[in-house]
Amino acid sequence: MSAIVVVAVLGVLTWRIVSGSGAEALTARAEVEAGPGGVKSDGSTAEPSATEPPPTTTPTTTVPEITVGALEAKGRPVPVVFRIGTFDPVVFITIDDGGIQRPELVEYVRATGIPITMFLTERYTSGDSVGYFKQLQDLGATVQAHSITHTSLRGKSLEFQTKEVCQPVDSYERNYSVRPRYFRPPYGNYDTNTLLAAKSCGLKAVLWWSATYNNGTLALQEQPFRRGEIILMHFNDHLAADLETLVQQIEAAGLRPALLDDYLDAAPIQP
Ligand SMILES: [Zn+2]
Repeated sequence: MSAIVVVAVLGVLTWRIVSGSGAEALTARAEVEAGPGGVKSDGSTAEPSATEPPPTTTPTTTVPEITVGALEAKGRPVPVVFRIGTFDPVVFITIDDGGIQRPELVEYVRATGIPITMFLTERYTSGDSVGYFKQLQDLGATVQAHSITHTSLRGKSLEFQTKEVCQPVDSYERNYSVRPRYFRPPYGNYDTNTLLAAKSCGLKAVLWWSATYNNGTLALQEQPFRRGEIILMHFNDHLAADLETLVQQIEAAGLRPALLDDYLDAAPIQP
């Protein structure tokens, strides 16, 4: 659990955000990238453009100990989120589908308290499987929606997409007593109808990802590995072992896992 000091940061800015009462103060620490190569392009040519505020934007939130920028809708019905804009040294672990339910994962989450967000496919996780995901929920994992049948939604009718997006929201609310607020489209394939469907059942955002981790390999949409990454994993036979090595890489980068829902819930929407 030793931390490795990252020396690549060119400038460090520290400031305090003082709450209204003045009693609780939140200290945030931002690394300000400067010099050649320090200016990040807006990624306009990349398929997923992160809804990430520029580094100079001061995050706004009222939740203690969380700094998070706005989710930029950019005129869409709901924002599509690829990465979280935050000055906190955190990354987010998300686990999709749910067809493979290994007891080792429950034991790993119980032992470590690692925060995870589960995007469940209804068809793979209904009936007797609900108890497995309830165990994870009791350990702090959260349940979000990932369609009924794991069909690629892009190009499908609004009616079809609304059922795929919204039916699991209702059934997960019944099964897990918490209404999902986020939807991840199968294969990442979405269009305007997906976003309209998400809005129609009260979802706050559609989620993509900025990194994947599988079989010990971290693949980034954009270098370097940094705060705010949303990491995509899947329920599979080696998930618990993968989480163990992923956490080592996260800590080696001077980061820690945090719960995605906390940051998304706290983020204001910028139309
Ligand atoms: Zn999936």
